[in-house]
Amino acid sequence: MTIAGNEAMQDFLMLIDGQWVPAASGETFESIDPYTGEAWARLPRGGAQDADRAVAAADRAGAGAWGAMTATARGHILRRFGDLIAANADRLARIEVRDNGKLLAEMSTQVSYVPQWFYYYAGLADKVQGAVIPIDKANTFNFTKHEPLGVCVAITAWNSPLLLAAYKLAPGLAAGNTFVLKPSEFTSASALELGRLAGEAGLPPGVLNVVTGFGAEIGEPLVAHPKVAKIAFTGSEGGGQRVAETAARGFKRVTLELGGKSPNIVFADADLDNAVKGVVSGFMSATGQTCVAGSRLLVERSIHDAFVERVVGYARTARIGDPMEPGTQVGPVTTRPQYDKILHYIDVARRDGATCVLGGRPWPGATASGGLFVEPTIFTGVTNDMRIAQEEVFGPVLACIPFDDEDDAVAIANDSAYGLAAGIWTRDMGRALRMSDRIKSGIVWVNMYRAVSYMSPFGGYKRSGLGYENGMDAVRDYVRTKSVWINTSDETPDPFVLG
Ligand code: NAD
Repeated sequence: MTIAGNEAMQDFLMLIDGQWVPAASGETFESIDPYTGEAWARLPRGGAQDADRAVAAADRAGAGAWGAMTATARGHILRRFGDLIAANADRLARIEVRDNGKLLAEMSTQVSYVPQWFYYYAGLADKVQGAVIPIDKANTFNFTKHEPLGVCVAITAWNSPLLLAAYKLAPGLAAGNTFVLKPSEFTSASALELGRLAGEAGLPPGVLNVVTGFGAEIGEPLVAHPKVAKIAFTGSEGGGQRVAETAARGFKRVTLELGGKSPNIVFADADLDNAVKGVVSGFMSATGQTCVAGSRLLVERSIHDAFVERVVGYARTARIGDPMEPGTQVGPVTTRPQYDKILHYIDVARRDGATCVLGGRPWPGATASGGLFVEPTIFTGVTNDMRIAQEEVFGPVLACIPFDDEDDAVAIANDSAYGLAAGIWTRDMGRALRMSDRIKSGIVWVNMYRAVSYMSPFGGYKRSGLGYENGMDAVRDYVRTKSVWINTSDETPDPFVLG
């Protein structure tokens, strides 16, 4: 799909019905390398007409070879798809780094893990089975079967492009659906590469279409399209809200994976060496641009000052720089709006009375690269009602809040519009279990932070989202259930004879 290429700029086309095509309008847009600030890729700027073509192709593909294939055969293709992603992991990871500026080390690990989604759901493809119901009526045989929903739309954010796509495509394809994937306008290239690998793996044309462009221009027409049965969305709260509203008008299913303001809760009895590492990784990994970022540090009051000092000391040692360099520990901020937003929140926190004890400004070394960098930033003197404790920053910014006891920690942790993740650091397993019962979030990590797996459900409470991805049940979110009734007698009851 690369139609021309040199080191400076590469041109991409979209994948619709197995063909590489430009946008119907002929328009394009550019993707910027966050480290250099230079455009490196030019992509089709898709619109409503392209959305329509992609959905029509997905609809035809579902009615064609894909729909006729056995679930076992679908599983074989998904396994090959996983193998091809594994074989291309390094190349795919480098593309993602050029698009989102996350560390090569992180993207390599992440992309190398993506095949596991396809292997796991390939194994489940032929286990999506119905049941015979021991029905409470004479001479009646009743059974259920699960059928694919049809055309699904996957819309993803820029921070983990292929991983977030895999969360949706792997269970959805295993269940027999077809897809239109719309990656973020900031990170489209790896999804197009994924589309190429899907074809090589044997997915029939139209089963996976990949379109590029902006949310308002091609995302909304996809969501509104009458032939679309489900939208699986990962992104901002505002984007999720618009998707849910539009989908509701067509009674479509939605899965929403949205934002967070996750607490990392450190008790005085914790292994503090480990807790320091967990807290730093929680707010600095991916330059804080992760939905599960542990952006609120709740520390038991008796150790608050000493512990925060250790976190500051460790965070200060981070090497900031080129994400492609193996020694770099903090990379650039991915997008200009995101950069502006982070600096805005740093300003808001200061104005609201929080004390900046680390960072708090653009990284001075950034001028050498041309990219956008913010220094890892830590605020103390934060109260949970401040905006820095309530609103998602999506950057390397930590808000520290002391607590007195378990009740206080639970009250502060749960006093949030979000409920995606939480970390608990303690040596007392009774306390860990009590806390994990009481914390209102979809994920609770105890003495660890930021682990995900294809095997374990991922989803948020409250404004962090709707529904779950990953785990066995994710396949069920991509099927509808049909109840089939059979009269096993030769008689049909007379409608005028009651009883
Ligand atoms: P965003 O909402 O701006 O964009 C996400 C995707 O939605 C993009 O592909 C965009 O083009 C599309 N989009 C935007 N508006 C749309 C609309 N009206 N209709 C259809 N599509 C639309 O979000 P972002 O800035 O790319 O991502 C950052 C956000 O994503 C953060 O809030 C972060 O917490 C969240 N996120 C959540 C998870 C999770 O699993 N919970 C994972 C990663 C990121």
